[in-house]
Amino acid sequence: MKKQNNILQDTFGRQHTYLRISLTELCNLRCTYCMPAEGIQLSPRSHIMTYDEVYTIAKTFVDHGVTKIRLTGGEPLVRRDADVILKKLATLPVELSITSNAVIIDRFIDVLKECNIKNINVSLDSLDAEKFMEITRRNDFEKVYKNIMLLIDEGFNVKLNAVLINGFNDNEIIDFIELTNELPVSVRFIEFMPFDGNKWDKAKMVSYAQVMEYVNANYNDGKVIRLQDAPNDTSKNYKIEGYKGSFAIISSVTNPFCDSCNRIRLTANGRLKNCLFSSSESDLLTPLREGKSIEPMIQKTIQAKFKVRGGMDTMKKLEQPDLHGNNRSMIAIGG
Ligand code: SAM
Ligand code: SF4
Repeated sequence: MKKQNNILQDTFGRQHTYLRISLTELCNLRCTYCMPAEGIQLSPRSHIMTYDEVYTIAKTFVDHGVTKIRLTGGEPLVRRDADVILKKLATLPVELSITSNAVIIDRFIDVLKECNIKNINVSLDSLDAEKFMEITRRNDFEKVYKNIMLLIDEGFNVKLNAVLINGFNDNEIIDFIELTNELPVSVRFIEFMPFDGNKWDKAKMVSYAQVMEYVNANYNDGKVIRLQDAPNDTSKNYKIEGYKGSFAIISSVTNPFCDSCNRIRLTANGRLKNCLFSSSESDLLTPLREGKSIEPMIQKTIQAKFKVRGGMDTMKKLEQPDLHGNNRSMIAIGG
């Protein structure tokens, strides 16, 4: 039952109803924009939440009004007890979903169905096997593409996430959109974001405006339909008339959606982040293990949330490496 005190509302009146939980810092791919070449300093195993702890923390959030949980990572499915966690979380009254690179998702089709998971986001940054290998540092394109087809055949709603990098995959924007002619998927173009060790540079980012330039140069005006975005949606959604699928742009850098943000993130080592861009984290796991209530720390973290992008409210601040250099790599936060 929902508790009466409103610990998930911040000082700007934003209600946090969407929890993203990272299950692991490990991954079977090595995407250059996510994982630094030298790897990351992994948390000691004993600092990673057990499945019971994941459930207990998630339940606390649900008791306070969270209605949506997305599992992410690292790659959530490489965790040995991923199926156990999925089944436990599926007992909570929430919409459960997952973000995966799909390399091994074929082994989880039955569990995903059993857990009533309908929406699956899959990372796919290129439709070209060699480029896929260049960006992920692994030769798994065929496997991933086959698994995307399997997910569609099995009736899941599939969104494909492509992080755009200037001079690397911006020439595939139209190929991705053409994929939506044949497949009922939503392709989401994500603006490349700065994190520790990912060598971010504004010049490498392909902005929302640039994507729309490609779109407008390739399709007649009347063919590009602006779709209604869902409430709290982070993406601007479009479709090409007559195509089965749609496409969207996630413009966290040039056009942040902070006003309607309802998200909070729990890292695999049990730390709460009130914003993807925030470099501060609050430890929930230690008080939980000490048998203390985690609610005061949750409330404090929500109250400390900045209005815009973890306090980096201008592009100038975002471009200062010392401001985002303390933020962990995406692989350790959970995207
Ligand atoms: N391994 C899973 C996957 O790749 O889908 C889940 C975790 S991954 C960190 C979640 C999402 O974060 C992916 O869609 C990935 O493309 C995105 N991501 C990682 N680093 C990013 C960055 N620097 N800028 C924008 N998106 C990023
Ligand atoms: Fe792994 Fe996903 Fe990061 Fe790629 S984006 S390295 S698949 S966690």
